[in-house]
Amino acid sequence: MTRSELNTYMRMLAAKRAELAKGLRNRGVIAIEKTPDAIDEGQFAGERELAIINLNRESALLRDIDDALSRLADGSYGTCLHCDQQIKPKRLEAVPWAKYCVQCQETADRQELAESIEYVEQLRA
Ligand SMILES: [Zn+2]
Repeated sequence: MTRSELNTYMRMLAAKRAELAKGLRNRGVIAIEKTPDAIDEGQFAGERELAIINLNRESALLRDIDDALSRLADGSYGTCLHCDQQIKPKRLEAVPWAKYCVQCQETADRQELAESIEYVEQLRA
């Protein structure tokens, strides 16, 4: 990968990181806010739950971005963490924080789905 390509991905990652961090800072406050007397307790709990789910998802993404930035720093950026193949530029342009090539990502997603289904079935049992 050329230096200018690396710079492009670094800029994309930095921009996404700044956007996410800003959103997380603003929403973090809402998520932990005390219930105002006027608002229905149940509704508030639902909203807070949703806010927490979003926070979790966004902080996971933030972690992926940070990981990608450290791979940029140590020179391993753009290589699939699973099979060591180069991740296609098209994929990196769409998802600059991608850890895996498309094939390995699909396997990982299927694995995650299988684990989720297993978890739900355990809950039902
Ligand atoms: Zn791979």
